[in-house]
Amino acid sequence: MSNPKFRIAICGGGVGGLTLAVALSRHQDITVDVYEAARSFCEIGAGVGVWPRAFRVLRKFGPDFEQQLLERCGYEYTEEYVAAVRSRKSDQPIGIELFDLMTKGKLMRFHRADFHGVLLSFLPPSCTTHNAKRLTSYTQPLEDCSGNSPITLTFKDGSTATCDVLIGADGIKSTVRPCMLRELAEGLDPDKKKSVLSCMNPIWSGVAAYRTLISAEKLRARFPDHRILKEFTQYMGKDAYFLAYPLFLGQYINFAGFTLERDLVDSAYDADTEIPRPSFKGKTDDEWVSELTAQQFVEPFKDFEEDAQQILECVEKGTLWAVHTVKTLPSINFRRVAIMGDAAHAMVPFQGSGAGQSIEDAYLLMTVLGHKSTTIETVPRALAIYDKLRRPFSSEVALRAMRSGQLCAFQEDVPLHELGDTITKNWEWAWLTELDDALEEAVRLLEDSSIDVN
Ligand SMILES: Cc1cc2nc3c(=O)[nH]c(=O)nc-3n(C[C@H](O)[C@H](O)[C@H](O)COP(=O)(O)OP(=O)(O)OC[C@H]3O[C@@H](n4cnc5c(N)ncnc54)[C@H](O)[C@@H]3O)c2cc1C
Repeated sequence: MSNPKFRIAICGGGVGGLTLAVALSRHQDITVDVYEAARSFCEIGAGVGVWPRAFRVLRKFGPDFEQQLLERCGYEYTEEYVAAVRSRKSDQPIGIELFDLMTKGKLMRFHRADFHGVLLSFLPPSCTTHNAKRLTSYTQPLEDCSGNSPITLTFKDGSTATCDVLIGADGIKSTVRPCMLRELAEGLDPDKKKSVLSCMNPIWSGVAAYRTLISAEKLRARFPDHRILKEFTQYMGKDAYFLAYPLFLGQYINFAGFTLERDLVDSAYDADTEIPRPSFKGKTDDEWVSELTAQQFVEPFKDFEEDAQQILECVEKGTLWAVHTVKTLPSINFRRVAIMGDAAHAMVPFQGSGAGQSIEDAYLLMTVLGHKSTTIETVPRALAIYDKLRRPFSSEVALRAMRSGQLCAFQEDVPLHELGDTITKNWEWAWLTELDDALEEAVRLLEDSSIDVN
């Protein structure tokens, strides 16, 4: 490109970073470099689900892109109401059917590597990808007269690079977030500074996730008519519940179980915390995942109904995750640096919305950065608009996600017959609302520079 209007570095090539890179392909006057810590982009073994609100954003990338995604998920997109999740009260010898979560449109489920594969195949020539590039820090010069000196990136291998705009899409353990918050805290009074800096590191949510894949073949051989071979079901119990559903075109059953320790919500996760989960003891902050035997894995669900036990019998081993989140941040941008996705708002997985939120961030970032009025001088205002429109929304989603888990673990005083309505109302933003209102507002703010956006 002869004369780009600016150069964007995206740090992190996960769901959010790659979606942003694809979205920016429609702006040929912007060059994009994606720096990814891993040697390859593909994540193997885990699924990712996208609710209609975020899927409608992906559809904006055109029919070819949508077709590629649909081929990988194996079912059609619909706007009809469907029974998405069957919910049972299962912490008793004979379980009972509680409600079906009715959603307008389906949760579109993908193998994560397939999802990444589609994004990678749509990257434009104006985007260069760099693997094995782990960012360790950046330096953003204090504004000079022209306001456009480059930002310098430093990587773990000792190399450096420059850019005009830096987007941190580097996940929950983001490097960009703490660097940016330190910049933001500079010059604040001690109390405010302490409050800003307290958001740098992820915190433990009090949630432990039990994750495994079960062979559908094995379950079918023992229990040929088991509901889970066809239906997405959640088995709910006091303080613990699990979801199970077919994945990878029916080859596997994805199992995601959770325990919620309300007293430990938002506590620091450290080796000295007395957590009644033996496998977490002695773990440092960086060791959030433990291997479990089948016996350890099924322990929280051992008093569940027979239907649940049939699934648990097929578990061979699994992993236990200490689910961490990011506190509500005071800002998700500072001058020409912004963060997105899990770096900005990692949330508990109870509404399957983390990936969707990073897709929404990506599209709004593309809208503000690609707008014709945005120049290198006005990037800080464009990113302030992104902050203004996205941060309150994703914070609200994070709260709703936590509430969903608490409702499913019977931790709120809601009568059983009202539970279905309460859970649905708390969640229906994911299929009844659109990102479009925020996109229109972003354009309005961009086109009227007299409006204060801070
Ligand atoms: C097991 C599991 C299941 C989930 N299921 C769902 C679901 O069904 N639906 C849903 O919406 N959400 C789901 N989520 C949440 C969702 O995966 C995340 O919210 C989403 O991946 C966030 O995307 P991201 O791009 O912000 O971060 P990530 O996808 O985590 O990507 C961050 C990328 O940055 C790279 N990186 C990290 N540090 C650096 C660095 N210093 N320099 C360069 N690169 C770096 C990483 O290698 C990674 O590729 C799930 C999460 C987990 C863990």
